Amino acid sequence: MSVPIAVCGSVLTTDGVRHAHAVIVAGDRIVEICPVAELSSGLMRREFAGATIIPGLIDTHVHSDDWQAPLFLAHGVTSVRDTGCALEEILERRTRWNAPLARAPRLCCCGPLIDGPGVPFSWTPMAEIVHTPGAARECVDRLVAAGVDQIKLYASLDRACFFAALDQAQRHGRFTVAHLQNHADAREAIEAGLDEIEHLSGFAEALWPERRAAGVHWLDLWPDLAPERVAPLVQLVVERGTWLTLTRVVWHAIGRNDQPSQQCLPHQPFVPPDVARWWHEQYPRGMPAARRHVWVRALAGLQIMSSLLIERGARIVAGSDTPFVQVMPGFSLHDELDQLVACGMTPAEALAASTSRAAQALGWGHQVGTIAPGFLADLVVVRGDPLADIRAARAVQAVMRGGVWLDPVELLAEAAHQARQPVRHGARRIGEWY
Ligand SMILES: [Zn+2]
Repeated sequence: MSVPIAVCGSVLTTDGVRHAHAVIVAGDRIVEICPVAELSSGLMRREFAGATIIPGLIDTHVHSDDWQAPLFLAHGVTSVRDTGCALEEILERRTRWNAPLARAPRLCCCGPLIDGPGVPFSWTPMAEIVHTPGAARECVDRLVAAGVDQIKLYASLDRACFFAALDQAQRHGRFTVAHLQNHADAREAIEAGLDEIEHLSGFAEALWPERRAAGVHWLDLWPDLAPERVAPLVQLVVERGTWLTLTRVVWHAIGRNDQPSQQCLPHQPFVPPDVARWWHEQYPRGMPAARRHVWVRALAGLQIMSSLLIERGARIVAGSDTPFVQVMPGFSLHDELDQLVACGMTPAEALAASTSRAAQALGWGHQVGTIAPGFLADLVVVRGDPLADIRAARAVQAVMRGGVWLDPVELLAEAAHQARQPVRHGARRIGEWY
């Protein structure tokens, strides 16, 4: 076991920030939190004046790949949940990324999306396509037997297959995550016991079923948030404790693709050429004016819905949907935290949504996401006070993953070097699997 070390600064604990405190780490664990004044003189120390020590951050919605690892860590993201990837690939990556000394975030995985044969939301081969309820149940059995952590149900499942797969996952006691679309609206899915909804999918359909049935596109439904419509659904979400990953950064990235603010983003030096090409093909700039207006109204509606859910105390966690268009590892989780604050969370609540609360959604609430004795020593040292201004969480000074220090400057250099490599001709294109 390595020599114990005291990491000194202002420490974010379950009781709030304790100034002039130390997190004592031995091996890969936190063993004690105590005032700096009480540290024994022989203990090795690393002092961070003016900094706050927060738990390692968690991104609850990513589609992982190896190029992303240094970017996640450089931004203080020490755990991620993969919400859709080919089975063999993700199991192999989980083994590597969860190794004690890995230079990668810890990985919780859903395995492949369980999806139906419809278009356009079948992302093969990161999906397993099922055509019958029996096949949906068999697919869940097979993924559980293979060892996935959670089950992800996707947009093109038909109604019978969706409820069969949900029931089968529940029989196995597996946490279920869904992108709702054709099969069930949010109310139906929540009442059937679905654990988590991504992207606020199925909400518009639950609020305006008659307009949905008349063929109105879900984006066009958002501007009409009458309180008497919205309140019962918000109440249901809160009462049932349904988890929500909003991925507000995704809606902003699509809806604002043409705005000047999107032309020069800080993540650009780190975008691999394959990824940039895929983004350009999927979402070329030049959205027609009528479409832009729809997006402006939809973004406003999604923001109002998000703020109502936050106000009522819904269990919201922070996820980015990396590497969706203009959504990048690490950078975009911090953008999501800004967005959650813009929707009414306090900075402390936003941090919880990406630490202790996110850890619970991953089933890891006893291991990560909290600075307390017995937890894994995943720590992020940030300059300033993120509880006063959430943007301070971006100013990552040092990262510790499982008791091992990582240097953000080195990690970013590694990521930038990778991004300068030429397009891998003949390699799997991201658009074929994202
Ligand atoms: Zn996704």
